[in-house]
Amino acid sequence: MQATTRVGIIGFPWDENSSFIRGASEAPPLIRAAFASESANLWSETGIDLGATPIFDAGDVEPVSGAAMISRIAESIEALLGQDYRLISLGGDHAITYPVVKAFAKKYPRLSLLHFDAHPDIYDEFQGNRYSHACPFARIMEEGLVERLVQVGIRTATGHQREQIERFGVEVVEMKDFRDDLRLEFDTPVYISFDIDGLDPAFAPGVSHREPGGLSMRQGLNVIQRLKADVVGADIVEFNPRMDSTGVTAMVCAKLLKEIAAKMVKIERG
Ligand code: MN
Ligand code: MN
Repeated sequence: MQATTRVGIIGFPWDENSSFIRGASEAPPLIRAAFASESANLWSETGIDLGATPIFDAGDVEPVSGAAMISRIAESIEALLGQDYRLISLGGDHAITYPVVKAFAKKYPRLSLLHFDAHPDIYDEFQGNRYSHACPFARIMEEGLVERLVQVGIRTATGHQREQIERFGVEVVEMKDFRDDLRLEFDTPVYISFDIDGLDPAFAPGVSHREPGGLSMRQGLNVIQRLKADVVGADIVEFNPRMDSTGVTAMVCAKLLKEIAAKMVKIERG
């Protein structure tokens, strides 16, 4: 256990690459508010007191349109990684993950991705947009930014996406084959990309693409807590507050933030 690990968060209120409905850009302040809510304490389930290991908040990055935002995201992450933070990015839609991982790959030449999602997000292009939130993992794999991409919760793969999965050697734990005793192990630093729609919409209805038959919150937490890896970065994306009438999905995001931050602090190696 390394008590000196510094964890930071940064928000990207940006959803112009969402293909169906907008709203994910409104997520970052609501995740922060749920995290700070006095309805819960700051201890992780695994016994880490995040009140005693404060999280640095770099604030939100002002969104601009198009390719300029891709560069802006990468630059903001690079600046924080230069200060040795382990970073958790709050989306925004899944389009943020390509520039974020691009910046991480510069610092970590050996990096692997653990990706929770209902969708593989590996379309070569979607609706004519190569930076769509349906495409980030195609861009990441084309550029060879990571050693391994492991996807968990997938339940929407099309023929084209299955070809892409094969082409890039993606390791997929499809939801239909998910087992409760899943334990993942990595011998490289790991970045966790958590698309909230990987969870079942019964647990997390506040998403743009509700896809039934997903992970329970408990299953998602167990995969993270049992992970044998050094977690150096993460993102929590695709929370859409406009779809979250009860506010429960904001709490889901805050809990994931807490448990992932705790995982960064408590390093477990094999
Ligand atoms: Mn998704
Ligand atoms: Mn996604």
